[in-house]
Amino acid sequence: MNPLSLDQPWGRGYSALHTHAFADGSSFATNATTSFLPRGLGRSYGDVCVNDGGTLLHTFRRDRLLSFDDVHGVLTCEAGASLADIAEAMLPYGWFLPVVPGTRYVTVGGAIANDVHGKNHHHWGTFGKCVFEMKLRRSDVGLIDVEPSDALFRTTIAGLGLTGLIEEVTLQLDCVPGPGIEQDTKLFGGDGTIDGYLALDEASNDWEYTVGWIDTLDPNLRGVFFRGRHCDGPNEWLAPQPARLTMPMDAPRWLLGAWSAKTFNALYYRAQAMRTATRETIPLWQFFFPLDAVNAWNRAYGKRGFVQYQFVVPTAAARETVPKILTHLREAQVASYLAVIKTFGDNPSPGLMSFPMAGTTVALDIPAPDEKDRRALDRADAMVADVGGRVYPAKDARMSAAMFQRFFPQWRELEAARDPAISSSFWRRVTASQDSAQ
Ligand SMILES: Cc1cc2nc3c(=O)[nH]c(=O)nc-3n(C[C@H](O)[C@H](O)[C@H](O)COP(=O)(O)OP(=O)(O)OC[C@H]3O[C@@H](n4cnc5c(N)ncnc54)[C@H](O)[C@@H]3O)c2cc1C
Repeated sequence: MNPLSLDQPWGRGYSALHTHAFADGSSFATNATTSFLPRGLGRSYGDVCVNDGGTLLHTFRRDRLLSFDDVHGVLTCEAGASLADIAEAMLPYGWFLPVVPGTRYVTVGGAIANDVHGKNHHHWGTFGKCVFEMKLRRSDVGLIDVEPSDALFRTTIAGLGLTGLIEEVTLQLDCVPGPGIEQDTKLFGGDGTIDGYLALDEASNDWEYTVGWIDTLDPNLRGVFFRGRHCDGPNEWLAPQPARLTMPMDAPRWLLGAWSAKTFNALYYRAQAMRTATRETIPLWQFFFPLDAVNAWNRAYGKRGFVQYQFVVPTAAARETVPKILTHLREAQVASYLAVIKTFGDNPSPGLMSFPMAGTTVALDIPAPDEKDRRALDRADAMVADVGGRVYPAKDARMSAAMFQRFFPQWRELEAARDPAISSSFWRRVTASQDSAQ
C-alpha cells in the first residue's frame, strides 16, 4: 500500500486524501481499516471515483486482452483495459466497441460501473448491454462469476464500483467497415426551442450516431447537429493521432465566466456555420473523441475546476422542459461552455441504477460554480425530478441526498448488494440523510 496522497477527479475543484493499492488478485487481503474503492482512469467528473480518507484500489495495471473470438467478435479482457487499448488493437481486424463515451481513456471496469452511454443509445443502449459475463471479487465471498441472469449483474452494471472489484469481463464487439465515419452536419434552432434538434434527430433513424451541440447562453438556443455512421477510410486512420496539444497551465480565473462562455459559444457556432462541407468522411477517433486531442484539457477550467451537469428528462416532457431548464440557468447567469444534447432511445439498460431513460439528455460544463450557481442548479434538479428525470452520478459532485434519492428510489437495493469493504465519497454523500427524499 502506498502512502497518503491528495487526489482529484476529472472535474477537479476539490482534493481528497487517499491511500493507494493496486489490484493484483489479492486485492482485499490487506489489514486496511478504511474502505476501498476500485479506481479506473479517474475520468469521472465528480466523487463517484473518490473515497476521501480511504483507499483507492487502482486497476490500470490489470489491462490484458485475454482472448478474442474473431467469428463472433467476443472479447475477454481484464477490467483495467482501456477502451483506447481495445479500439486500437481491434480496429485493424474490423472490430470496434459498440458503445463509447466521449473519451477513450476509460477502463472497461469504469464503463460498466457507470454503465456509460455514447451517441448511439437509440441503436445499442448502454455499455452494460455489450457485457456477457464478469468475474467479480468481493471481500466477503471471494472471486465469483456473474452473468446477466444473476441479481449481482443487475446491481454491478451502473453499480458505481460498490458491489465488488470487477476483474475480468467478456464483451460483444461490433463489426465495422473500417476506420472512417461518414459525418453529416446541420444547424438547428434560433427559435428558443429544441424542436429543430428533435426534428433532425427523428429524421436520422438510419444514422447510427447522433449528437448536438447547443448554445445554452443564446436565448434562441441555436445549435449544431452531427450524425454519423461507420465507413471505410485510409489505413493511416486505423490508429489515432497522438494528442497534438497539451493544456500547459490552469486557465486564470478572470478568463472564465458568462462573458467568455458567450464569446466561446458564438465563435464555435460561427465556425460551424461557415464550414462549406456538411458531409465528409473523418477518422472515427475524431468523431468520437474530439476532446482527447488535447491532453489535460480539464485545466482549461482553471484551478478551481468545473462541474459537468448532465440531466435527462423523459420523452413526453423533453420538448417543454429542456428549454425551461436552459432558460432558468441562463437567466441565473450560470456560465456554460460546450453543452451537448443527445437522445436516449427506448432501450432499457441492464443496470439497476443506470442513468439513461428514453428521453433527451443535456450536459453542460460549468466552471467552479459559486453559491448563486449552486442554488440555480438545485432548482434545475427539482425541475428535472418533477417530470420524472434524473441527474447523472458519473458527472456529479453536488446533488443533495434528497434529490439523489428522488432520482434513484431503487438505491437501497444497491446498498443491500454493496460489498461491506467498499465505499465512496459519492455514496456516503448521497445516502447520508436516508429517508429524506420527498
Ligand atoms: C471527456 C469525457 C467525456 C465523457 N463522455 C461520456 C459520455 O459520452 N457518456 C458517458 O456515459 N460518460 C462519459 N464520460 C464519463 C466517463 O465515461 C465515466 O465517468 C467512466 O465511468 C470513467 O471510467 P474510468 O475508467 O475513468 O473510471 P473511474 O472514473 O476511475 O471510476 C468510475 C467508477 O467506476 C468504478 N470502477 C472502476 N473500475 C472498476 C472495477 N474494475 N471494478 C468495479 N468498479 C470499478 C469506480 O469505483 C467508480 O465508481 C466522459 C468523461 C470524460 C472525461
